[in-house]
Amino acid sequence: MSTMNVVKKQGPGRGIEITTDAIPEPAPDEVLIKVNIAGICGTDLHIYRWDAWAESRVKPPLIIGHEFIGTIYALGKNVKHLRIGQRVSAEGHITCGRGITGRRMFETWYQCESFLLKNGKVIDPIITHVLDLEDVEKGFMEMEANKAIKVLLKVSK
Ligand SMILES: [Zn+2]
Repeated sequence: MSTMNVVKKQGPGRGIEITTDAIPEPAPDEVLIKVNIAGICGTDLHIYRWDAWAESRVKPPLIIGHEFIGTIYALGKNVKHLRIGQRVSAEGHITCGRGITGRRMFETWYQCESFLLKNGKVIDPIITHVLDLEDVEKGFMEMEANKAIKVLLKVSK
């Protein structure tokens, strides 16, 4: 059985673990993506800290990582419009397709930037840390110390 490295919330409480899990098979309408770079953000920090927000929404065990780029590694049998090796990214929010997050990416990022500025966040630059996967804890420490808003993790080549 082939395995992949994962960042996983094993159970309630502070912290996160780097471990391995079985590589899943894509369902007929899915693709399997080999992640190259993953972002950790404020949502992941909630999960890491295990605050009231996380406790009310997250059901561990859970592999975290909803922001990433990678390449398509395997196709479900119904997927015809994509190909193995294609570089992809994902947007983790399900939208109606008509609201702000369903419009052009530029508009979405503009709204995001406005939100960050309105809330006193320094956005230049947002990405200040690019770390190896093994240093995920360091990434959370930097975020907790307000030295980073978003941290990128090098997952695979
Ligand atoms: Zn996020």
